[in-house]
Amino acid sequence: MNIASYGYVSKILEERELSAKKKFGQNFLIDANIVDKIARNACVADTCIEIGPGLGALSEMLLKYCQELYAYEIDEDMVECLHRVFEEEERMHVEYTDFLDVDLESVPYKDQDICVCSNLPYYVTTPILFKLFESDLKIRKITVMVQKEVADRFKADTGSEDYNALSVIVRYLYDVKYEMSVSKNVFYPKPKVDSAVISFTPKRERDKAFEKEFFELVKNCFRMRRKTLRNNLKDLYDEEMISKIITSLNKKDSVRAQELSLEDYLKMMEVIHER
Ligand code: SAM
Repeated sequence: MNIASYGYVSKILEERELSAKKKFGQNFLIDANIVDKIARNACVADTCIEIGPGLGALSEMLLKYCQELYAYEIDEDMVECLHRVFEEEERMHVEYTDFLDVDLESVPYKDQDICVCSNLPYYVTTPILFKLFESDLKIRKITVMVQKEVADRFKADTGSEDYNALSVIVRYLYDVKYEMSVSKNVFYPKPKVDSAVISFTPKRERDKAFEKEFFELVKNCFRMRRKTLRNNLKDLYDEEMISKIITSLNKKDSVRAQELSLEDYLKMMEVIHER
């Protein structure tokens, strides 16, 4: 029986007198076809990281497509189940920890190409993603299942309500792809909302010095969302420089940060460095 099935999940929970824990965002996948599709798509490297393996539905499929799997699980009850199920599987490395506490500088796969795959709990989606984005790991692809509205936010276009500094930063670093919608019916217990799988594929070599300055600039531009770009930049640059920036972008003087594309922000960096 596949782990990703109602039969397995309900049986194991009942046998161990467990129930899905809301505080850890536990909703288990129970559709093997969907899980297989996600895993196949996600595994673009031999080494894979999974955050929150739960009972192992996704882990089981990931092991079909990768060589080594490092899985981090915060719930001791889940860790016990995983140890039992994957007892004979030497390629599966389960660690009982909050992923947010993992020191990514000292992991065994630090210098290897890796991929990341996770059915993320809602409450911790953003900090986990940003921990990955900010790490020095050689990540080739991050594939995550998130609530549909979170996926929409990552895909937000210039000018939309959800478009913010993070949208610009993520777009600078990654190609963000909406992989598929996933119905709430494929989870146990069934959540209130549908989910979606999105992926992040790095676009460019990392340049930490440039990033530091660029991200700071972008964050400053969005500092006060309702204010104009001119207003948000006035503590950083003199009026002349701000006018030069706005003119070079071909924008009105009243332009706001949310009206600017990634290309506009990159152009802004060029203008600032022309000095
Ligand atoms: N991967 C399983 C599946 O798809 O059926 C379970 C997914 S469930 C939505 C999220 C899992 O993440 C749970 O097992 C939960 O205990 C675990 N989790 C929650 N917060 C975590 C954290 N900060 N670090 C590691 N695991 C976490």
